[in-house]
Amino acid sequence: MDDCIFCKIVRGEIPTTFVAENQHAVAFDDIAPVTPVHTLVVPRLHIASMSEATADDEQMLAACLLLARDVAVIKEIRETGWRVGTNTGPDAGQSVFHLHFHVMGGTRLSLGG
Ligand code: AMP
Repeated sequence: MDDCIFCKIVRGEIPTTFVAENQHAVAFDDIAPVTPVHTLVVPRLHIASMSEATADDEQMLAACLLLARDVAVIKEIRETGWRVGTNTGPDAGQSVFHLHFHVMGGTRLSLGG
């Protein structure tokens, strides 16, 4: 997708430091963190959200979750606890329509926040 900001980051067109990466996804820190650790895991493939995911995306989705685990290790929150989640659609407040998983931690997380 030519005008997708996360596609541009994946392609290296917007200079971004990757926290970690694997065959299917990259991870970089959120530009507006809401927790001490707030990193995004973004698949290299453009897919708008989990609502568009199919069985063909099985390996990519597994790779995203495993990369989230790698982020937790790198950010040293593996033991203290962390959350991975993806906002899907308007009611969830999704603002970037390229699938991404928020990896959050470094503080006590409430259920709603
Ligand atoms: P969501 O609202 O769930 O779609 O999450 C989008 C996230 O992307 C927000 O937390 C933004 O702060 C973050 N974001 C948007 N643009 C960038 C960027 N260029 N680099 C890093 N994070 C970004």
